[in-house]
Amino acid sequence: MSAVTPPAQSRPVAIVGGGITGLVAGYRLAQRGLPVVVYEAGGRVGGVIESIRENGFLAEFGPNSILETSTKISGLIRDLGLEPRRLYSDPAAENRYLVRGGRPVCLPVSPLKFFTTELFSLGAKLRLLREPFVRRGPAEVEESVAQFVLRRLGQEWLDYAINPMIAGIYAGDPARLSVQHGFPKLAALEQRYGSLIKGQILGAKERKARGEVSKQEAKKVSFDEGLQVLTDTLGEKLGTAVRLRSAVTRIEAADGTWRVTATANGAATTTEHCAVLLAAPAYRLAAIELGGTPAPGLAPLAEIHYPPVASVVLGFRREEVPHPLDGFGMLVPAVERFQILGTLFSSSLFPNRAPKGHVLLTTYVGGVRAPELALKPQDELVVLTVADLRAILGVRGQPTYRHCVVYPRAIPQYEVGYGRFKALMDEVEAKAPGVFLAGHFRNGISLGDSIIAGHDVAERIAGWLGQRAVA
Ligand SMILES: Cc1cc2nc3c(=O)[nH]c(=O)nc-3n(C[C@H](O)[C@H](O)[C@H](O)COP(=O)(O)OP(=O)(O)OC[C@H]3O[C@@H](n4cnc5c(N)ncnc54)[C@H](O)[C@@H]3O)c2cc1C
Repeated sequence: MSAVTPPAQSRPVAIVGGGITGLVAGYRLAQRGLPVVVYEAGGRVGGVIESIRENGFLAEFGPNSILETSTKISGLIRDLGLEPRRLYSDPAAENRYLVRGGRPVCLPVSPLKFFTTELFSLGAKLRLLREPFVRRGPAEVEESVAQFVLRRLGQEWLDYAINPMIAGIYAGDPARLSVQHGFPKLAALEQRYGSLIKGQILGAKERKARGEVSKQEAKKVSFDEGLQVLTDTLGEKLGTAVRLRSAVTRIEAADGTWRVTATANGAATTTEHCAVLLAAPAYRLAAIELGGTPAPGLAPLAEIHYPPVASVVLGFRREEVPHPLDGFGMLVPAVERFQILGTLFSSSLFPNRAPKGHVLLTTYVGGVRAPELALKPQDELVVLTVADLRAILGVRGQPTYRHCVVYPRAIPQYEVGYGRFKALMDEVEAKAPGVFLAGHFRNGISLGDSIIAGHDVAERIAGWLGQRAVA
């Protein structure tokens, strides 16, 4: 078994997966003058990002917005010439609703509103004030998000703040997600400052110095024709470097190069590359054979839990939705016993998402909380979603527009014990020099995380190639 020796620099870098991570990495490498080939198994680039305009509605099936937390995100939009097409969410849509007692209640936005809100009991409010005095947990013990929150804030915060928030971000379950892997910044705040509240205040100064913005303060971004504008533009910039309908099945180290085998239209072709970036979902990477290297195989990545999520996009006549929809959307705690996880008020968030006199609501169903619901036939999904929207928002009448998309494996769950997957990825990179892994299964699950991951891994690959060229 030969280890990889200095790569032939003239060969392109192989990028496996044309989702946002792979596209950003490919674009950044190409900008540095390094040739790339992006292998994409599907017939289009973008991965889970998909925007469709139909009957005057603009439906987003996967992600709806990017949080602009880093200059790596704003810089990408600038470099692609997309600033004129960028939309920031309407400042009037900053409210967030949580469902309590069967109706949407606005999350308090100021300390005064916090003390007067009916969302939390007096006991829960006092418990928050006690948080800075709760002892930090031992750093070496991995906890679930639920254990962490119960220890620091108590049951009501878990049920009415964290449970719906986790449903909104991960479509996940706080009892299974690891605080250390799923919310590493939160775990670090406790260890560093001894308190989440103190850490929020003191951490803000350090973020500012690093040019970062917290997820709470970051602006929400999309484009005039939806998020797909970003991935379509990246695809256009990469041009013929993108090979669609090419699923990578094997990667093998041989003679100082990486031989990448991809199957397109039933025929397998093998191409030599100087390095390989693995940026497909973990359950797909698990099926790729890794040969000619002492690195462990990728098969264990199949055990990463990706629950199904259905995205139910519905248009209604404005007058049939009595709620003002003056916000980002609403999240539904599990204890409220509805079927949906939450709803985005899509037409309030960005302009031109619905024809005049109509509104657009994007609802997510399933996740770890109720995976069986996501897999129901589309008509049933619409019926159950409309039933919950009637009960919570008072919606009347039938939707004038409907479109459902099911992601059978939507979002990876960074559950307790996720460290073993991260250790495997580290070991593969260490023992198979020239193979890199990046994406939602390693660097954080948000779109912003994926853009930053694509940017950073391109730097790592360029650095590695540079070092090899000098050696
Ligand atoms: C329903 C849903 C809603 C979301 N909402 C938000 C949101 O509002 N905001 C937010 O920040 N994030 C959101 N996210 C998360 C975010 O969209 C993703 O984390 C991010 O887009 C992942 O990008 P990626 O490139 O890592 O992976 P993917 O988008 O999964 O792309 C991977 C690509 O690899 C390709 N591929 C697979 N196997 C192979 C192979 N063998 N060879 C070649 N190619 C292969 C696939 O076809 C795919 O195109 C959401 C996700 C989902 C599913």
